[in-house]
Amino acid sequence: MNFMENVLNIIFPPVCGFCNEINKNFLCDKCKRKFDEIKISNIEDYNDIPVYFNEHYYLLKYENEVRDFIIKYKFQEISYLYKSFAKIIVNDEIFNNQFINKYDCIISVPIHNKRFKTRGYNQSKLIAKEVAKLCKKDFYDNVLIKSKNIVAQSTLDKLGRIGNIKNAFSNGKNSSFIKNKKVALFDDIFTTGATSNECAKILKQLQASNIGIFTLAKD
Ligand SMILES: [Zn+2]
Repeated sequence: MNFMENVLNIIFPPVCGFCNEINKNFLCDKCKRKFDEIKISNIEDYNDIPVYFNEHYYLLKYENEVRDFIIKYKFQEISYLYKSFAKIIVNDEIFNNQFINKYDCIISVPIHNKRFKTRGYNQSKLIAKEVAKLCKKDFYDNVLIKSKNIVAQSTLDKLGRIGNIKNAFSNGKNSSFIKNKKVALFDDIFTTGATSNECAKILKQLQASNIGIFTLAKD
């Protein structure tokens, strides 16, 4: 730890993102046990339906306290919570043994520039980047950009979501990075899969050799 990190640790000591207790791992044992109880980590295969990705890993069911935490994370400025979320993902056995080792690199679902300017951060990118760091995988930013600023998917039904998100993403300045790579794409919540699938469509056009989706929760 360098001097500046020491100073920052004194002013802003690392805390568990869920209960605020001081914890250098950003996840205390008590909260880890709680999440272990509500975990439903699983990998679903989508080879039989027309999607552009191969599989989908998710950690939690989007309900009750999980829902509260994610909403809190998405809409309030709680910068350290991403470290706690990343920790529970990389601590998960199925993620480790059956998912992430199949991929070369990690990217995240982008948000529109306008939204970034009002919110100040992309919640999915923070988690994805931290997961990449912990798993020692490359993280690529700006492979995709969100070129269409659409109405929030959460306000629409399934058909509405598919139409709304259609062609909302395009190539970013680093789009060539993923050619012939096995790409793990992170999004926070998987509801209908319309967002993930739209991103995967472009990754496929960019010649990613394999695409897996991983999300914190599944609705
Ligand atoms: Zn805790």
